[in-house]
Amino acid sequence: MVQAEGVSKSFGSNLVLKSISLEVQRGEVLCLVGPSGSGKSTFLRCINHLETVNAGRLTVDGVLVGYRQKGDKLYEMHPREAAAQRRDIGMVFQRFNLFPHMTALENVMVAPTLLKKGTKAELKSRAMELLARVGLAERHDYYPAHLSGGQQQRVAIARALAMDPKLMLFDEPTSALDPELVGEVLDVMKGLAESGMTMIVVTHEMGFAREVADKLVFMDGGVVVESGDPAEVLANPKRERTKAFLSKVL
Ligand code: ADP
Ligand code: MG
Repeated sequence: MVQAEGVSKSFGSNLVLKSISLEVQRGEVLCLVGPSGSGKSTFLRCINHLETVNAGRLTVDGVLVGYRQKGDKLYEMHPREAAAQRRDIGMVFQRFNLFPHMTALENVMVAPTLLKKGTKAELKSRAMELLARVGLAERHDYYPAHLSGGQQQRVAIARALAMDPKLMLFDEPTSALDPELVGEVLDVMKGLAESGMTMIVVTHEMGFAREVADKLVFMDGGVVVESGDPAEVLANPKRERTKAFLSKVL
């Protein structure tokens, strides 16, 4: 579903991703971990068309991200094409970014409504299903301000799912939450993983990585330092940098 081969990205003279190579198969969950500033968010943003890569090859479901190939030449994609590609990718951020003047239900319905994905009744019933899936059916008419952080993040997940994405990206989805609210969001993500969704999750929740992820990738300084089976990497980190990081978060 996602293939990165030698992906590099710089901001000015700051080389932030240095030849990243990794793969996520359909239905797999990959956890991306590493210290702050290592390039994790930038990598997700490249997959989601919020940044363009400077070198290497990045594909989602076999389609080149951000560029169109003609012969052996690459052309930057038209923003409209990029927007169409991005619709297949759901993203959940650390901050929930819900629209404050819309109820939970309206937040979930907004994108499919703009894209005329069905009649109003169809879209509403689909949105209610998604809210039920994240355990919030009975809160559908609440405004974000009247929901806890964990509930808001679950609405944000339902909202991302409303576009029927084939890939979900999570960028530290529980980092802004009070500790007692983390579990309910991780449970929803675990259910999503069990339903077969392909996911890339940037997180410091090593319990989640061990239990749910198929693959753990440790990044530092813009490179993949180590990757493999989560239980194996967590129990037996091979590189000093991985050991040092894990000793701080475990
Ligand atoms: P992480 O998510 O692992 O904490 P980031 O991908 O956010 O790391 O950042 C990696 C590096 O890229 C940092 O040095 C950061 O300052 C830099 N960076 C990220 N986004 C931008 C941007 N839009 N412009 C300039 N520098 C950026
Ligand atoms: Mg980040």
